[in-house]
Amino acid sequence: MIVLVINCGSSSIKYQLFRMPANEVMASGILECIGTEESALTHKTLGNKHLIEQKISGHSEGMALILDTLVDEKVGVISEISEIGAVGHRVVHGGEAYSGSVILDDNVIATIRDFSDLAPLHNPPNLIGIEAASKVLPEVIQVAVFDTAFHQSIPEKAYMYALPYEYYEKYQVRRYGFHGTSHHYVTKRAASMLEKSLDKTNVITCHLGNGCSITAVKGGKSIDTSMGLTPLEGVAMGTRSGDIDPAIVFYLMSKDENLTIEEVNNILNKKSGLLGISGISNDMRKLVAEAEKGSARAQLALDVYAYKIRKYVGSYMAVLGRVDAIVFTGGIGENNPFIRTEILSGLGALGIQINEEANNAPSSDERDIATEESRSHIFVIPTNEEGYIAEETFILADKKDG
Ligand code: ADP
Repeated sequence: MIVLVINCGSSSIKYQLFRMPANEVMASGILECIGTEESALTHKTLGNKHLIEQKISGHSEGMALILDTLVDEKVGVISEISEIGAVGHRVVHGGEAYSGSVILDDNVIATIRDFSDLAPLHNPPNLIGIEAASKVLPEVIQVAVFDTAFHQSIPEKAYMYALPYEYYEKYQVRRYGFHGTSHHYVTKRAASMLEKSLDKTNVITCHLGNGCSITAVKGGKSIDTSMGLTPLEGVAMGTRSGDIDPAIVFYLMSKDENLTIEEVNNILNKKSGLLGISGISNDMRKLVAEAEKGSARAQLALDVYAYKIRKYVGSYMAVLGRVDAIVFTGGIGENNPFIRTEILSGLGALGIQINEEANNAPSSDERDIATEESRSHIFVIPTNEEGYIAEETFILADKKDG
């Protein structure tokens, strides 16, 4: 079966075409700047990259261009659209309704729409993607794979905020957690590297990309995670503050009367984190280079970033008791040995020991970078969120096809 995976944002559509069950990537790409003069599709096939610059005014038109490209005589990889057996959509927020992936129907779509209040930046564009794909592929099974689903196993004591209970009842204010596809995928890979069954696997997974989150996984299930009601909570990120004293919001608003709720929201989500502290960039590569050149603010941003992650890892060791492995994934987690060392350096007293030679060896493979003596393994595992979505989609579509 051929499965198309779609990750639809407000002005972009990312896609990957998979041959299943081999999980082989046939093509991938991104259509960016939808609705502007600059819209362009970058389409990749085995070893080749094609840039198609074309004005695209909306998501349906964008989806049609992607499908045309997939069947194009020169750059396409299939001959007919009908070869696509199922479409898998990344959906950010599934609230308390979904602890796994589901086949989309009108009810599911209505529920995703209901959760738009909880994820106003993500669920509406995800729905636009679902609508656009259903329009151009009306007969094809569409599946929703939720970022929140893996974390639905988190117990009440960990998801409940110490706020008046009525806000949970009235407005569903609780921890949901995100990056679930990535945390779940690397947990399964870690179990395989440990040669343990998933239900006996305890790991702490660190997804460190532009957004960052840490998850405590017990017996293969998420039991706590650093992101909360929204992806703003937790460790410091590229541009997000992560945890702060909530009173800072009222204090700042009392000091600067021009600060509106929207602007504070914008500051915490878009102007904080690595970018906010350094004043230079949210890009880890740039910050490491600037710190090496002597920038004190870049160094401070790196120090704050690693310190906050170390605190989460330490607290999740306390939550889990036995930790089989600490797992690093995401653009930073997979590629930055310096940050991995900074995070783990203070955990020696808890028996965590990194093997610096293995840590610094360039590799893009799954690997163990702990010393023989370390109490827990330290794994670097490249994430594969699209591959995970393709797998989930294939399993559900295959079952339905009977
Ligand atoms: P997203 O969360 O948007 O998917 P990524 O997982 O690609 O983002 O992570 C982006 C971050 O990873 C950036 O801070 C970037 O600097 C960092 N990064 C990506 N590749 C490398 C690399 N080779 N070395 C160090 N940092 C990297």
